[in-house]
Amino acid sequence: MCAVTALPPLDQRLLDAVERLGHGRRAFLQTMATQWRLSPLQIEVVVMLDAGVTPPVAGEVARRLDVAASTIADTLATLRTKGLITEEPDDTDRRRRLLALTPAGLDLAQAMNRERASLRTSLESMSPERKGAALDVVLTLIGDLHAQGVITVDRSCKTCRFRDSRPDGDDWCGLLRQALTPDQLRVACPEHESLALAGR
Ligand code: SF4
Repeated sequence: MCAVTALPPLDQRLLDAVERLGHGRRAFLQTMATQWRLSPLQIEVVVMLDAGVTPPVAGEVARRLDVAASTIADTLATLRTKGLITEEPDDTDRRRRLLALTPAGLDLAQAMNRERASLRTSLESMSPERKGAALDVVLTLIGDLHAQGVITVDRSCKTCRFRDSRPDGDDWCGLLRQALTPDQLRVACPEHESLALAGR
């Protein structure tokens, strides 16, 4: 007769589930990297440039990926050698070099987008409320880890100095001057300003 395993606390199961998701993402990146003969970091840089980085320069890419400038320099050199990116002087500021994807880099980004889209299918049938609640929980966890210094870069509403809580429990964006229901929370907002920088 098999013994009934005690159910771990809900908090623990939630954290375990988030960790499993992170593991799945790393495995997915590794699979794609092997397929394209690149490193996971090189793949991430291509995906990031495709999504849009402002300004599209090495320093900003390093900051967003939370890696050292020397690591990004090596990564960009490899991507250039493989013909996936270009790096050209900025006409408005000759000290800067702007990054862009080549047609081959765009092909890789599109392949990544197609693969990622296939991962999203199970989300399509869920209600916005359910997905919003999940987003709210995950961003809150990320915000906590950011506050503890475990995640050093975060540009979500939960760590933004413009966010406030409303009496009804929803968040409020003081910059956009609008309520942020859970399904409207931003994960990587271009207007994000860090709470830490605001000294709060
Ligand atoms: S500025 Fe962007 S990140 Fe900050 S609270 Fe508003 S929507 Fe969220």
